[in-house]
Amino acid sequence: SDILNLQSPASLGPSTFPGSDRPMVEAHGVRKTFGSLEVLSGIDMTVSRGEVACILGPSGSGKSTFLRCINHLEKLSAGRILVDGELIGYREKNGRLHEMKKPQLALQRREIGMVFQRFNLFPHLTVLGNIIQAPMLIRGEKREGAVRRAHALLDMVDLRQKADAYPQQLSGGQQQRVAIARALAMNPKLMLFDEPTSALDPELVGEVLAVMKRLANEGMTMIVVTHEMGFAREVADRVIFMDGGVVVEEGPPAEVLDRPRHERTRTFLRRVR
Ligand code: ADP
Ligand code: MG
Repeated sequence: SDILNLQSPASLGPSTFPGSDRPMVEAHGVRKTFGSLEVLSGIDMTVSRGEVACILGPSGSGKSTFLRCINHLEKLSAGRILVDGELIGYREKNGRLHEMKKPQLALQRREIGMVFQRFNLFPHLTVLGNIIQAPMLIRGEKREGAVRRAHALLDMVDLRQKADAYPQQLSGGQQQRVAIARALAMNPKLMLFDEPTSALDPELVGEVLAVMKRLANEGMTMIVVTHEMGFAREVADRVIFMDGGVVVEEGPPAEVLDRPRHERTRTFLRRVR
């Protein structure tokens, strides 16, 4: 779609664009320790272009930490992560990894949109102001273009009338949809969602999931940490169950959710249902 500027619509086939058959995300042996606590114990994961992967798992299993590693909000203790073939957070020199300098890291991060549980919008800016800020300040876009695109994004999240509202005048569900539009304004090639609906009143969950589903249908590559089983079942191409810092099992939603192979997965699913 021209709103999202996604590079390789599935309809055009994998050979149409250079590099379009390489995975969007590759994690190899990712480990993360905080002091003596090992939170990620060797995560391997591949997410294809256009794929929607839902990560499920009990609290404390390392889901948020793993998402934060993908855009290098956390340094890795071992392993590596590539996004669209590019090593994240490090450059390789003489076979060794060196941490990237801030400006270089910023260039990588702006390709990766992230939406958190709490919709951290800037309270002193209007909805429109929130959405155009990063495109203007970070990408150097002209105001006119940024505003035009912001309106298109507000259309997509069903908030076209709220451009001039301030965050505190919006419901939680509306704020979260603005947060999604704000992330999309940077034209990311990958979207990370960390429990985007778990801070919402139950009646507001559906409107946010609907926007995420629309985004998935547009071909966005998405990694979604969620406890919304209905969403995982309907929208995910793949469900990944994490526990204790490892991927316990993964597969199509119907397999993992209806015929889990591991006892740990079964126990978790019994609890969330
Ligand atoms: P999840 O998102 O699956 O609930 P997290 O990735 O948030 O799990 O956390 C996994 C574990 O790592 C938890 O035990 C948590 O307390 C710990 N942890 C997360 N961030 C930090 C940190 N910055 N310092 C110390 N421990 C942390
Ligand atoms: Mg978490």
